[in-house]
Amino acid sequence: MTEVLPPSPDIWVDVVVTTPAHSGLGDSLVYRSDRPLVPGTLVRVPLGSRDTLGLVWAVRDTPPDGVNVAQCRPIAHALDALPPLNDHWRTLVAFAARYYQRSLGEVALAALPPALRDLQPEQLTRRLKKQAQWASDASAAPADLPALSDEQADALQALVQATQPVLLFGTTGSGKTEVYLRAVRAALDADPQAQALVMVPEINLTPQLEARFRERFATQGVVSLHSGLTPAQRLQHWLAAHLGKARIVLGTRMAVFASLPHLRLIVVDEEHDPSYKSQEGARYSARDLAIYRARLESATAPCRVVLGSATPSLESWHAAEQGRYRRLAMPGRIGGGALPRLRLVDMNHQPKHTAIAPTLIDALARRAERGEQSLVLLNRRGYAPVLACHDCGWKSDCPHCSAHAVFHKIDRTLRCHHCGHTTRVPRACPECGNLDIAPVGRGTEQIEEQLAGLLADARRPDGQPVRVARLDADTTRAKGSLESRLADMHAGEVDVLVGTQMVAKGHDFRRITLVASLNTDSGLFASDYRAPERLFALLMQAAGRAGRDAAFVAEQGSAVELWVQTWYPQHPLFAALARHDYPAFAAQQLEEREAAQMPPFGHQALVRAEARTQDAAQAWLTLAAQASAGLPGREHLTLYPAVPMAVQRVANVERAQMLVESHSRPALQAFLKAWQPVLHATRARPEAKGLIRWAIDVDPLSL
Ligand SMILES: [Zn+2]
Ligand SMILES: [Zn+2]
Repeated sequence: MTEVLPPSPDIWVDVVVTTPAHSGLGDSLVYRSDRPLVPGTLVRVPLGSRDTLGLVWAVRDTPPDGVNVAQCRPIAHALDALPPLNDHWRTLVAFAARYYQRSLGEVALAALPPALRDLQPEQLTRRLKKQAQWASDASAAPADLPALSDEQADALQALVQATQPVLLFGTTGSGKTEVYLRAVRAALDADPQAQALVMVPEINLTPQLEARFRERFATQGVVSLHSGLTPAQRLQHWLAAHLGKARIVLGTRMAVFASLPHLRLIVVDEEHDPSYKSQEGARYSARDLAIYRARLESATAPCRVVLGSATPSLESWHAAEQGRYRRLAMPGRIGGGALPRLRLVDMNHQPKHTAIAPTLIDALARRAERGEQSLVLLNRRGYAPVLACHDCGWKSDCPHCSAHAVFHKIDRTLRCHHCGHTTRVPRACPECGNLDIAPVGRGTEQIEEQLAGLLADARRPDGQPVRVARLDADTTRAKGSLESRLADMHAGEVDVLVGTQMVAKGHDFRRITLVASLNTDSGLFASDYRAPERLFALLMQAAGRAGRDAAFVAEQGSAVELWVQTWYPQHPLFAALARHDYPAFAAQQLEEREAAQMPPFGHQALVRAEARTQDAAQAWLTLAAQASAGLPGREHLTLYPAVPMAVQRVANVERAQMLVESHSRPALQAFLKAWQPVLHATRARPEAKGLIRWAIDVDPLSL
């Protein structure tokens, strides 16, 4: 006998779905449901002719005003086997959408693992069954923990009691990771449900971090979240975090949106790293969202947030100076190893066309002969940035971008690093037929080749020739190649490692006594006002790779050195670098920023336009700026003229941007919100014909 239920009255549900940005669809769509649903529940809903994943945002008894009830479609399925995404998570998403000027649905759905998007209810049930067998064990600390230095112990104690965000200002090699491990331990011990989120800037750094956490905590409580996982792994890890089974989540910037119902600690390691800022979709800063999220979570129970760096971002440093963040300093290196001594190589006094100074070559040879390793840093991959004909002036320009195609000798190709366009190197100049076309400038590939030649006569202690290897995006593309190159370095198979900034980040090589930077000056005079900050951080970080094993250095009797080739040895940045004096450098930079009302004293947003023609891109920006008169906040704002972007054309698309600046963050926010519909409407103007897409970048990291 089946019981016949009376028909239940309709319930009206606001659902957010991924809508194309600026589609005019609004933040949410209204659907009918025949049973009550909780906000935060995932649902499948019809959208046009398809069926898509959505998130219940609000539930109402009566249809909202202005909605055509007859056109409201019912929800297809509710994925209510899954606990709803909680209030805190939805508040975080709503804040990010509002602050970064994107739609709710776009941010909410992008924050979920992609595999969820196509998951049918029965598949979800199977996944959840699997999760049920998962034990959430994060116990088992090994008995012999390393002893903490006094600095580490003090920092840890202050950190677990802090009521405001903590800036852990620890020099490279000061043992910040050990402090993170202990802080996580303390958070998990204090509450049997507590979860911790630990973020690193790059996917390359997650394997070694994961190894350290797995060694310390029983493996099943630790999961990672980053774009290198398969969709199935990412879903599994996300579910483990969402269900509270994973106690520790390690990840890159995307992890800031992980659903962690019992989040009690957030660590943002290398917080100054630009990788924390997303460069597509909602251009969010995971570091800034981490601060927001910790405050939000703290409404229920204290959630600490720690930003760690040897060279903090000027924003964080300034916040600490103002007392908004608590600064904890760890100036000493574990084991007492000294930071490297700076040796400036004045390129004005080198033989013509010198790429690597003879004294530096000599120093590299001596180190290798003693069984020590060196790092050589060059921020340009490929063999040469451009191939040129000296007869007619032809250059290897990318046909689709306003950029040179880079010469890669290894496979005789010209590759555009902006659009990926790749061609074979021509036999002769395509313009005049000259056979003598030559590389101009140097990339990592060429430096590796030159070093191998220049060090050919040197011998390692075992009598073997000196080994030079390269680490950059080209040599680490294949799966596992990064790990194997790092393993070679750790095993002492490599004597000199040449690479891009990838070599400077995080790796704990024990036998390095010399680090050299070759084309340093590009960072001194770049048009971007953040360039000196980045250069200082990079050089300090690179320097930190040297002399990490004090016992080894003492035994070798070597001087630990940072060699910097420059045409401007008098530049003040080097004076601060020589003293490893980040506070002095930061003070000088902040003074300049304040005088110019640049961040963190002023606030910025960029509007970027992409169009078929540069004229259309700029016209759209200019018209939208003209139409902004009278909008809220406008009187507190400066709108600069539309200009082409630094790389003006990529893949045959012209790019332009407009900078918006204000001394007031609320004024800027209010203005951007009101300006959005104006920007959207301006698309229809005939002058803007050819506009392809546009986006707002709030707190842009590069101009
Ligand atoms: Zn030519
Ligand atoms: Zn290109």
